[in-house]
Amino acid sequence: MRASADPLLAPRGADAAPPFLSLRGVAKTYRAGGRETVAIGDVTFDVAEGELLALVGPSGCGKSTLLKILAGLHGHDAGQLRIGDAGFDPGRDIGVAFQQPLLLKWRRVLDNVLLPAEILGLPMAAARDRARDLLALVGLAGTEGKYPYELSGGMQQRVSLARALVHDPKLVLLDEPFGALDALTRERMNLELRRIWAASRKTVVLVTHGVQEAVFCATRVAVLTAGPARMADFFAVDLPEPRELAVRNTPEFGALARRVYERLGMT
Ligand code: ADP
Repeated sequence: MRASADPLLAPRGADAAPPFLSLRGVAKTYRAGGRETVAIGDVTFDVAEGELLALVGPSGCGKSTLLKILAGLHGHDAGQLRIGDAGFDPGRDIGVAFQQPLLLKWRRVLDNVLLPAEILGLPMAAARDRARDLLALVGLAGTEGKYPYELSGGMQQRVSLARALVHDPKLVLLDEPFGALDALTRERMNLELRRIWAASRKTVVLVTHGVQEAVFCATRVAVLTAGPARMADFFAVDLPEPRELAVRNTPEFGALARRVYERLGMT
């Protein structure tokens, strides 16, 4: 198998199937109150099935907008976006988690996790088993009957991760999911995310402004320019598996993080 020579594109062999997700020249301008804001200039990249791609870029460069376009929450003005095969259904096959956990405070933890399954009308007995398994996977076994206010911020964010996965989506979109957490909890959540991804091998797009988080979590880091977003560069992450926090102390991790910082103009 020959690796793709084009760094914009997901790593794959020349004879491989088309990428799971593909954007070509995608652009987006917000128009409100007579004002126009170009949020995304021209974005082109691919994501292979099973990749964990981190999108990093300066605040306001259009990362959230891009994720919302991928989630089908916003339209785009120009370019092409293709996700999955012909049977791909954005309503069923995408799971999302945002910076705030957005849990329903009157529903218990298990019922919060079950929400997408309910909305999609999935068989509930199987969904309940899966929700319990996912809560165990994110380290929250035993919290099923609790209410969100009984959980810490980090635990609530783990509930929202479990909820993003309960309907077994093919694509998981994470928008700064750990941005509101304290540094230690955030590190633990980075480990959790890696563990969940390694166990499920879902295709994940993670928006973050944390370079260390991006390099630690991702299989590939995509750097966006200051807004309106364009692709600045891509970095394949080739660090030992399973990924442990100690990897951040290795020269390889430091060198890669430095290259990403440089590309962001932060050195
Ligand atoms: P990031 O996630 O990288 O911080 P965003 O995608 O949130 O960036 O925003 C990109 C640009 O689009 C910013 O200039 C922001 O002010 C603008 N923007 C975001 N959402 C809206 C909106 N709903 N209406 C108008 N402008 C918006």
